Amino acid sequence: YGDYNQKIDYVFKVVLIGDSAVGKTQLLARFARNEFSVDSKATIGVEFQTKTLIIDNKTVKAQIWDTAGQERYRAVTSAYYRGAVGAMLVYDMTKRQSFDHMVRWLEELRGHADQNIVIMLIGNKCDLGNLRAVPTEDAEEFAQRENLFFMETSALESTNVETCFLTILTEIYRIHA
Ligand code: GDP
Repeated sequence: YGDYNQKIDYVFKVVLIGDSAVGKTQLLARFARNEFSVDSKATIGVEFQTKTLIIDNKTVKAQIWDTAGQERYRAVTSAYYRGAVGAMLVYDMTKRQSFDHMVRWLEELRGHADQNIVIMLIGNKCDLGNLRAVPTEDAEEFAQRENLFFMETSALESTNVETCFLTILTEIYRIHA
């Protein structure tokens, strides 16, 4: 109930992008509601969830957008990117192709989004370490070259999920507040 009367100082829109099935929806579910589900959703259409947090004594509402399956149909539109101050580029560390596609997603993002958008590269499913197809160094190198933050996460085991959202939101706050 306390949440109800809370004064919101900032609303930051952050978009999740990356190939289908890399874990975008589960990362968001873990961050926003501390949930994880093994079955993937079937709904199509843009959706977002919010989470309110305190940064530097200010109330920040993070509005995190999920493509909700649209990426399968190459239908991620400019409306999706509009107003975004942060983006999380997610690949599945057990699927090399999803990492190779980061170049394209980054290109699309840079074509649509604001100049000073904060971007974080995320290698998800680190709980499946024995199936790893993308060495950490490859991703680090790419992130460094493209000036992105980088983290490996597991939505399943909750590894680094809170940390990666906090990192990007704190950086966004630093730039925009
Ligand atoms: P999206 O299409 O990118 O939104 O991917 P989903 O979030 O729907 O996840 C696709 C599949 O990967 C689902 O079966 C999830 O349960 C699974 N998944 C998501 N995150 C993880 C993770 O961190 N570890 C493992 N092992 N599976 C995951």
